[in-house]
Order: sequence, then C-alpha cells, then structure tokens
Amino acid sequence: MTQKPIVFLVEDDLDVLEIEKSSLLDKCQVLTATNLDEAVVGILQSKDQIDLLVLDIKLDNNAKAGLQLAKFLRATTDLSKYPEAKQTEYPNFQGKILVSTVDLSIALAKVFEDLNIIGAILKPFAIQNFQQAIETSLQIDSAELVLESGERVLYEWGSEKMRRQMVIDTEGNVYKTGYWTRGGILSVCLPIVTGYCSIGCCFCSHAYAPKGSTRKRTVEEIKNSVKIVLQGTLFQPPLEEGEKFDIAFTGEGEPGKNLDNTIEAIHQLSREYGDQIRRVMVSTVKTKVIKRLLQENFVVPVQLQISGFFWYEERKQYMKGADPLEELLELAFQYWQKTGRKLPIILNHALIAKQTDTEKKIKQLIKLIKKAGQQNTNWLKVKISNYNPITNIDWQASGGQAMMIKKLFADQKIFSFFYRIPRRQIERIPDK
Ligand code: SF4
Repeated sequence: MTQKPIVFLVEDDLDVLEIEKSSLLDKCQVLTATNLDEAVVGILQSKDQIDLLVLDIKLDNNAKAGLQLAKFLRATTDLSKYPEAKQTEYPNFQGKILVSTVDLSIALAKVFEDLNIIGAILKPFAIQNFQQAIETSLQIDSAELVLESGERVLYEWGSEKMRRQMVIDTEGNVYKTGYWTRGGILSVCLPIVTGYCSIGCCFCSHAYAPKGSTRKRTVEEIKNSVKIVLQGTLFQPPLEEGEKFDIAFTGEGEPGKNLDNTIEAIHQLSREYGDQIRRVMVSTVKTKVIKRLLQENFVVPVQLQISGFFWYEERKQYMKGADPLEELLELAFQYWQKTGRKLPIILNHALIAKQTDTEKKIKQLIKLIKKAGQQNTNWLKVKISNYNPITNIDWQASGGQAMMIKKLFADQKIFSFFYRIPRRQIERIPDK
C-alpha cells in the first residue's frame, strides 16, 4: 500500500480546522496545530517528512505570525525564543508551503518568492476549492510551472471568486494572470504588459507593480498565459477537451498600451481554439482601442467593456491617462451597432462614497449614456462593483447607495447589475 502524503494544517479557528481536516482524510495523512508553539513543536518533531504545510498567516492574534514561522522553517530567520529552534538551529524545511489568509497585499510578492511559498488560499473559501488546492499542490513540481517563454509562476492565490497567478519573466518583471469560473465557464484574464498599468488610475491596484518594470508582452507570451491556466493551476483542474472558456483583457493593464499584440493574440487564439472560445472581453479607457476594434473582423464574439468610474473634471484628475467618457461611449455605441447588437457594452462603475455614488453623479452619467446611444438604452449594461479601499487614499467604499443607484438606472430603462468583488484593503506600492 502506498503511503498517503502528509499534510500539516496550522489554523487557529477550530471549526475551520475541523472542516479542512475532514475534507482531506480520505487522501492524506493530516497533522494539525492551532497556534505557533504547537506548530513549531509538531513540525520539528514529525518523524516523517511533511509533504505540504498549510499555514494560516494570522495566528495567535499576530497578523504575520504564519509568515514568521515560514521564515524560520525556510531557515531565513532565527526564532530563538523557541527551544526547539535552538536545538536544531535552522530546520531548512523542504516541504511545500501553502498559506491561507483573509487578506493579501501585493507587497507580499517578495516574501512569497523568498520563502518559496507556492500559493495562497483566500478566506473564506469553498471546501472544494481548498481540496483542489491541496490536491494540486501535492502533485505539482515547480518545474511544471515554467512557461515555454522561460516565464515562471512565482505563486498563485485564490478564493471562490478571484484567482491569480503571479508570474515573473526572465528579466525579473512580474505580472498577474487572473482567472475565475462563473456559471460553469472559465474565464482567463490576460495581462498585456508586465509590471503596472501606466494609465495609472489612482484607485486601481493594477497601476502598481510588485517589482520589475513595465514592458509589452509578446503575442506568444500572451497566448502562453492561456495555455498555462487551461492545463490546470493550483485552484483550477485542467480544462476538458472541447470545454468552452472565455478570454478577458479586463483589468490586467490597458490594451491600448500594447494594442497590436493584443489584437494579434485575439486572432491567433481564435484560430487555435476555434469555437471553444465562447467570447473575448476587452476593457479599455482609450478611444484608439475602440477605433481599432471597429476596423477588425474577428471570428469569435468580442465584447467591449469601458471603464467609467469618473467623468468630467474628476476623470482628468483621477484617471489621467484615460480618454473622456463621452467619446468612449459614442464609439462604444457604434461598436455595438457594428457587431450586430448581440453583446451589450459593459460600463464598469465602482461605488466610492461621496465620489461616485451620489444621485447627482449618477444622473450625469445617465445623461451621457443616453446622449451617446441617441436616446437608446438597450445597448449597454452598467456593472456596479464595490470599491476596495486603498491604504494611502482617503476614499471609502459606499454604504447603502446601491439600491438607490440601481433604481435611478432602472427608471431610465438602463440595465445595471451588482458585481461584488472580494472585500479587502488594497495596499499600494508607492509611486516609482
Ligand atoms: S486603465 Fe484599467 S487597469 Fe489601468 S489603471 Fe486604470 S482601471 Fe486600472
């Protein structure tokens, strides 16, 4: 009989620990600890080699205790207050480490890389996602996570709604690939540049790079990012042959900053995957992107999204690299007419208290939508999302305005829907 792999769970919430443990017992031998002391003793005294350590980052009311433990185990720090640490000096733990956390800042990228942490499970998570992450973590060999281009997946993180791969290229530039499943369909969100989005909207975490610099990704690199997600990731089993999926260019950088390669990648991916691609979504703040889409003929449906967020003077102030919203809306209406009116234009809007959630602002926006659509309102849907506060910006998420806003849109026969993004505080790396 082959021995089951050994998974060591460190989790201070006893209910969560019990659920995690019982979900793994069929396939793994499970050891547990509920605090830092128990974990140090348990890991150092384990007779068998631990294959995977799943470490809650917040332990003993200390927000970073789990990371301190990981540093100690990877022999990068000396926690000499622990007698076991003194005995063994540096344990040099060789097993894989996965962390669980309620919050994840981009500043953790470097720590994860240094400690060779393969991924982070964002809480709260569905137990199937947890099982999937454990199963894949036990199977993968880090060598499998190298792309043909030489790019390497540093680590992955994910929760029910949001999953990301942090990837580093051969020059040390980092970027993120996003993916999610909704209604049973996988979407892969492709970064078109490494580093940060140079449009630099001040409320957007994609405007800031964890490290490295910004360069255009090649067509091959963009295509490779699809491949690596489809072949299976920490949180996503491989896509079955013939199973449909969506491609998105919706938030990992502005396509207008690498337009030729983005367009070429859409054409090549369409040829390679055919009708396995259900649709491609392109989100932009640049009129030149819509003008280009108007000239192209794609064999897959390409749906256009535009980022609203702010209009008039505030747009110039907070979204310096973005084109005026009225111009984008007018072109978007033309695009909708050109593409046979099948896929509505999506207008992205985030609710920031007293900035973008007031009746006055929404009425201004409705006016722009109706003007651009020549008084039609069936060509566009407003995707309203919650705003995640950013550490050094004095804005807060809106509270209790969503129903009023939905009603204002509905009164004008504009369809809107609420898209809840996982709540977290975004920690921004300072401007370079
Ligand atoms: S253009 Fe989009 S991705 Fe770029 S900074 Fe603005 S909101 Fe973020």
